[in-house]
Order: sequence, then C-alpha cells, then structure tokens
Amino acid sequence: MQTVSTLYINGQAVAGDRDAFPVINPATGDAFAHCPAASPEQVDDAVAAAGAAFKTFQYTPNAELKAMLHRIADLIDAHADELAQLVTLEQGKPLALAQMEVGAAAGWTRYTADLEIPVKVIEDSETRLAELHYKPLGVVGSITPWNWPLMIAVWHIMPALRTGNTVVSKPSSFTPFSTLKLVELINEVVPAGVINIVTGEGGIGRAMTQHADIRKIVFTGSTPTGQDIMRNAADNLKRLTLELGGNDAGIVLPGADLDRIAPALFQTAFINMGQTCAALKRLYVHESQYEDLCQRLAKIATEQVVGNGLEVDVTFGPVQNKAQLAIVAELVSDAKQQGARVLSGGDVQSGNGYFYPPTIVADVSNGVRLVDEEQFGPALPVVRYSDIDEAVAMANDNVNGLGASVWGEDVEQARSVAVRLESGTAWINNHSEVLPHCPFGGSKMSGIGVEFGEEGLLEYTQSQLLNISRG
Ligand code: NAD
Repeated sequence: MQTVSTLYINGQAVAGDRDAFPVINPATGDAFAHCPAASPEQVDDAVAAAGAAFKTFQYTPNAELKAMLHRIADLIDAHADELAQLVTLEQGKPLALAQMEVGAAAGWTRYTADLEIPVKVIEDSETRLAELHYKPLGVVGSITPWNWPLMIAVWHIMPALRTGNTVVSKPSSFTPFSTLKLVELINEVVPAGVINIVTGEGGIGRAMTQHADIRKIVFTGSTPTGQDIMRNAADNLKRLTLELGGNDAGIVLPGADLDRIAPALFQTAFINMGQTCAALKRLYVHESQYEDLCQRLAKIATEQVVGNGLEVDVTFGPVQNKAQLAIVAELVSDAKQQGARVLSGGDVQSGNGYFYPPTIVADVSNGVRLVDEEQFGPALPVVRYSDIDEAVAMANDNVNGLGASVWGEDVEQARSVAVRLESGTAWINNHSEVLPHCPFGGSKMSGIGVEFGEEGLLEYTQSQLLNISRG
C-alpha cells in the first residue's frame, strides 16, 4: 500500500509535508491507500498561489471560462471508470451509484459552464443609467464531506471557476482520492494556481476558514462544523455558503396510492445508504395507511442485497465510517428501548466492513432521538398521525429545515400542506431530487445561501452597482 496521489499547489504535484494517513475502504474496514497530508504552511502556499493566479484569472473572458469548464467535463467523462472506482473504494456506495455520481459531476460541470453572468439594468432614464454587475470575489475555499465526495466538490469548484475565482479545495480525509483526481484533471485545463488542493482533517479546514486571504468559504458538512466555520470566518467577513445537516420530514396524506409511492419513499430515504443531506429521514403517515405502508417499506428493505459495492449484484453498500455506523446503531437501539418496533434490519451486520442493513422503525414519535436527530444513515423512523395539522406541527418541530415532502393523490391539497413546511425545498410526490437549474439550500440550521442555478452562481460574486449620471 502506498501513497497514490499528490497535492496540487500552484499547478505542481507536490508531496504532503505531514505523514500520509490511511484511507479506509468501508466495505472491508481496512486501509486501501495512504493519502498525502498537507501542513498549515502548505495551506498558506496554496492560498498564496490562488491569490497570485486571481490577479489575471479574474479577467478571463466568459467564452474562455465556458470552454475551460467544457474541457474539464470531457476529462471527467474520459476518466469516468477510474473516478467511479475511487468513489466506491473510498465511499462504499455501489459502483452503479458511483457511476451516476461521476455522470452527474460531468453534467453539472457542463450546465455550470453554460450559465450566463447577468448584468441587470436597474434604471435607464434621462437622469441615470444604473447597472448591477457581478464580479469574482478572489480566493474561494471549498471544504467538502464524505457522502458524495466527487459531486459535491464539483458543486463547489465549477461555479467558483465559472465566475472567475480561484480555488483551494479540501476534501474530507475519509474520501480524498476522487477529489485529488478531479483537481489533477482540472489542472490540465486551467492556468497554474487557479485550482489547488490540500488534504487533512478539520485543522486544515480551520486554517482555511481563518485565513485572511480567502474571501469566501463554501462548505458542505455538519451543522456544528458550519457553526465553527461561521465564527472563524468573521475576522475578514468571508462570504459563506453553508450547506449543513438535514433531518427531512415527509408527510403521506390519507388515500395515497401506496403501490406507487412505497418504492419512491424507500429510494429517497435510503439513497446512498441514507447518507444524503436531503434524504427523507422522518416519515409521517396517516393512521389509516400506517401499518400497510410500514410493511411495504420493510418488504423493499429486506429485498436489498447488502455488501461490497464493487460486487455486481449488490444494491446496498456499507456506512462510510465507523463513527457514523455507531451513531446509527445507537439511535436505533435507543428507539428500541423506547418501545419502537424494528420491521427490518436493526443491527450492525457482523464481519468486516461497516454494514448496517436498511432499517424501518415503526411506533416512534417526536421526542425519540431517532426522530429528532439527524442519524445520516440507513434507518427510517415512521411516525403515525391522525390529523394533518398535527403532522405539519411534528414535521416543523425540528431545528433543521433542509428539505421536506408531501405525498398524495390530490396535488392541490399536497401543495397547501407543502407551503406550510419550514424547508429550503418542498417536494410533492418526490424527495431528495437536486437539479443544476434549481436553487437548493437550507432554512433554519440547515444552512445559509443556495447552490445551483443563477442564484447559486451569483453567491461566488460581489455585486457592483455602476451608476452613470446623465444629469
Ligand atoms: P463534517 O462537518 O464532519 O466534515 C465536513 C468537512 O469539514 C470535512 O472536510 C472535514 O475535514 C472539515 N472540517 C471538520 N471540522 C472543521 C472545522 N472546524 N473547520 C473547517 N473544516 C472542518 O461533515 P461530514 O460528517 O463529512 O458530512 C456529513 C454531514 O454533511 C451531514 O450532517 C450532512 O447532512 C451534511 N451534508 C449537507 C449537505 C447539504 O447540501 N446541506 C450535503 C451533504 C452533506
């Protein structure tokens, strides 16, 4: 086993100054490679390189920026097999899902390439012309989590580059390799110093959030880390986009077509083994259909093939890391002690690897930790309700507010419920779906700002009003 990658600083492949650290394959519980580790001095070097590159990169014509992003997308496609293998090895998800992640990374890059940066005419009168322009910010720091490592890096890096910023990226130390490969590919296209990557644990992230020469941090990860970043970013008033934790509620209205919705409910709750910020994490079902729906979900759960994501028939991979596995196990076990009924799964699978089968938990309510806290793994608590106001109150009774959903046959009735939910996105008859043209972000403690679409793109810019007097 060796170090298989290098950092990139100022366009150069460089070794990490610190001892390389092992990266575990969650399907085996063993290290499969070592990752170079950056020192705080290398963070300084990366920020200095990005700052120097910004001096000219900020003036790159739009057509050139667009062409660069298209070339990067082509390189992602050309290395799709390698990237997907890396994602499965480091993250654990089944290879088919990793391939989808790589495909989405290329697609998102192309969509972002083609976005226009607007100039908004605010006033065009005899007395003045007032135009709102959007300019790049400078050095953007991107800090990413371990659940969708490649795709989330793309979500951060591409809009930053499209708007003429330069970037220092820090992937999660659990899943660094797909991002290291991505940055290597981007370096084939952009000038030296435009994209840099440093690796390590939270301390390296903190060195970035405290750095005086970084103008913005885009962060996806847990709410406590987001709070720490917000505090540390205060000294130079960094711009922040924070995509944080979620504990998304779904409400099934009475009379729903269970044949139709049960597979979709399962899929959107357990996507990526439940390790998706905007997965459905609490399900509220009317008492008239409660037992029926619980049994259907449990049946789908038991049909999953749990195992190593590199094996062809496997539909359900491991939890990404041991600590997360322990959280899921603890919250399900606590629910059992409170009288919950476990209809499928419910125990850590013995053997190597961090396997926890998809787990449906019935007879729980708000107030039980499995419902109240983000478990971020393969368990779905299902809560019974008797009237819709009660369901809405229970759905909103949470500090998080990332996504939420309403499921039912009458779309107008579902809409009237959806608009009462406290969330950044409200889906009807769906959940978890994110799209490159639809702004996505959290309300309450799930975050600040949005990604995607024009609104997301403009978070990487500073507006400047040009006021031309015609007096
Ligand atoms: P995490 O907060 O532990 O780590 C995320 C990243 O932050 C890692 O790269 C980590 O090294 C770094 N980090 C840790 N401490 C830091 C600090 N003090 N300063 C700067 N950087 C620091 O999150 P995680 O466990 O990797 O990811 C899971 C969480 O991410 C879940 O809560 C999930 O809901 C959330 N998430 C949110 C979204 C969204 O779009 N809202 C998307 C995916 C994941």
